[in-house]
Amino acid sequence: METHGTNENSSMKERFALLVFTDLDGTLLDHDSYSFEPALPALTVLKKRNIPLIICTSKTRAEIERIRIQLHNNHPFVSENGGAIFIPKDYFSHPFEYTREDSAYRIIEYGISYSRIREVLKKMEAHFPGKIKGFGDFPTEEVAHLCDFPREQARLAKMREYDEPFLIKDIQILDKIQQIAKNADLHISKGGRFYHLLGQNDKGKAVLRLREMYEKTFKPIKTIALGDSPNDLQMLEAVDYPVLIQKADGTHDPSVKRENLIQAPGIGPSGWNAAVLKLLDHLSNTIKLASEGGT
Ligand SMILES: [Mg+2]
Repeated sequence: METHGTNENSSMKERFALLVFTDLDGTLLDHDSYSFEPALPALTVLKKRNIPLIICTSKTRAEIERIRIQLHNNHPFVSENGGAIFIPKDYFSHPFEYTREDSAYRIIEYGISYSRIREVLKKMEAHFPGKIKGFGDFPTEEVAHLCDFPREQARLAKMREYDEPFLIKDIQILDKIQQIAKNADLHISKGGRFYHLLGQNDKGKAVLRLREMYEKTFKPIKTIALGDSPNDLQMLEAVDYPVLIQKADGTHDPSVKRENLIQAPGIGPSGWNAAVLKLLDHLSNTIKLASEGGT
């Protein structure tokens, strides 16, 4: 932690607020156990310093809400690969445009309807019978088995609004189904376990929009993002400090490339913990975080 310096030293330090965006599966949550326990030291520091932790995942709203309770997290979040941003009511004091609201959130939607996505998936299946299978076609028990989590979690994972995870049996068809997606103004992204069919939304667009919203209150802002898969690339491109987390086998996904990418020194939540603590330490040597109460 920063010690009390002289006024001269303080005035030389750039002050900014910090935001942390994070993927869940294989990043903050262990790929197999879905535990975030190894990341608790860094999570505690973020909370103490009032640094917003913003979940940005391919998971559904229902799944994220369950995890937010476990994390005691009250910040906005991004569901289904940038399909929508959910902002708790009264979170921002300034007015902003949103698509719709419910009792808990103002919701900014970027994704297109799940029913439309399912239509296009069916079209792909018609071209390649038996080679593609979407979440919507798997019974809850099978989703539980595929994801290796309890049936209740599988039920929440199936409550999809903007994105369809799917499996393909034959990698050779990937180019062709990408073209079918493109013709329908959709695209295919790759997560840790599944391919995803979705609209023109991605995690990066949602991250940039949220950054803008925080900038109405805090300026300047610096951003960190942590992810492990190709569907995290746009999110990593949208921030100042992009962190790539090691996969379960200890490698960094070679297809996720960008300038100044920080390679986390560990797998899943252990790598998350080490990378966040190191970055916070590095940043606190040069700045005072506005959210720590700086003026
Ligand atoms: Mg992931």
